[in-house]
Amino acid sequence: MEAKIKAFMDEVKTRNGHEPEFIQAVQEVAETVIPYIAKHKIYNGKNILLRMVEPERLISFRVAWVDDDGDIHVNRGYRIQMNSAIGPYKGGLRFHPTVNASILKFLAFEQVFKNSLTTLPMGGGKGGSDFDPKGKSDDEVMRFCHAFMLELNRHIGPNTDVPAGDIGVGAREIGFLFGMYKKIRNEFTGVLTGKGRSWGGSLIRPEATGYGTVYFAQSMMQTNGMDFKGKDVVISGSGNVAQYAAEKALHLGAKILTLSDSQGYIHDTDGIDEEKLAYVMDLKNNKRGRISEYADKYSSATFYKGETPWTVKCDIALPCATQNELDGEDAKALVKNGCVCVAEGANMPSTPEAIHEFHEGKILFAPGKASNAGGVATSGLEMSQNSLRISWSREEVDQRLKDIMEDIHDSCVKYGKDDDGYCNYVKGANIAGFVKVADAMLAQGVI
Ligand code: NDP
Repeated sequence: MEAKIKAFMDEVKTRNGHEPEFIQAVQEVAETVIPYIAKHKIYNGKNILLRMVEPERLISFRVAWVDDDGDIHVNRGYRIQMNSAIGPYKGGLRFHPTVNASILKFLAFEQVFKNSLTTLPMGGGKGGSDFDPKGKSDDEVMRFCHAFMLELNRHIGPNTDVPAGDIGVGAREIGFLFGMYKKIRNEFTGVLTGKGRSWGGSLIRPEATGYGTVYFAQSMMQTNGMDFKGKDVVISGSGNVAQYAAEKALHLGAKILTLSDSQGYIHDTDGIDEEKLAYVMDLKNNKRGRISEYADKYSSATFYKGETPWTVKCDIALPCATQNELDGEDAKALVKNGCVCVAEGANMPSTPEAIHEFHEGKILFAPGKASNAGGVATSGLEMSQNSLRISWSREEVDQRLKDIMEDIHDSCVKYGKDDDGYCNYVKGANIAGFVKVADAMLAQGVI
């Protein structure tokens, strides 16, 4: 089996050798899915996984825009349309200086499996730009978003490709992008999700990824007779996913000890309660400030510059910032300090070495493609509401989100149980996600 996996990866590396994040994501899937393919005749000899690692379409384009001083800037825009076997391409847009084809291909590839797991009819895609919204005025962000959509609009549509937010793309950016799409196409459609409430957005969409991550972690904990009540929780990031993961964990009775951003983390020994979390939301979403300011305001907190929070003793860890933010040494520290559950709110935040440590330690570990699928699932619900021209209540959407997260959890357990009873959620998520897409691809023939 090892030889088969190696031969497959050699072929992937030959074609994508300069894309380390993409190769990392494919390797993880190959290790779990190739043994499954070998045992299931219908997938044999069809090169199905090789077809899945090649994007159906990769679009790259120039985005020229003018800043407040009249200077002209050029950024690169992308849309990776990875797989449309089970529905229109669906996946976020990321605006961050680190964005490149490798990062977006890894995100698009993971998205295919994630969207399949939600049971909703959505293919996988991802896009974005190396534009950095940090330090830009609202007008500059608007001009960039408009310039970006001037090109992107021709590649997307409610039945073709429906982008959403991701790092650096929140409610403000979605508004500007939607406005320009509507202007160019002269149609009001559900072409982007994460829209504002009064113009087609869904209740619970802003909360969905963070809430869903905690719902998933709660399901995992319950398999071992535990829950969030009274547990110490360490969270990284302080953006959309981190904020709402913290809020839901608080609702379930946990104590939140940390939050972070790209400059460091804060540790509040008294815990981050609802009032302090409201301060963080205002700081990050309205004032666009830094998490270090939290420690200036609350004396119970210390700011650790340039560090990640994984050495803080906790019961549950929720990495909610970015890819590869938790390495093997961090994972060792978490396991040694008694952490029993890690659920990824971010995409691929744990390195392969970290995942190995979690599995060795036999602790509960959920990969992002399963545990953070609540965001895209609720985007799917937003698309349904847009098509039906109706709006479901907060309770209704939240209940659907909960049900979807429980179903994803059950699918992971179905395919992920090892012989000794330990649930390998990575294996479970990869196989469950693969089966639905592969079956659709087989039915549609070689295209
Ligand atoms: P935001 O832009 O709202 O927040 C991102 C957070 O991560 C910020 O606190 C940011 O800090 C921090 N961060 C970004 N880059 C780094 C880095 N290199 N090192 C340390 N911290 C960093 O993004 P989201 O909360 O939306 O996304 C977070 C993660 O969740 C991403 O992996 C995203 O792909 C994933 N995700 C998001 C979904 C969504 O619905 N939004 C859905 C599913 C997954 P700073 O402000 O300093 O940059």
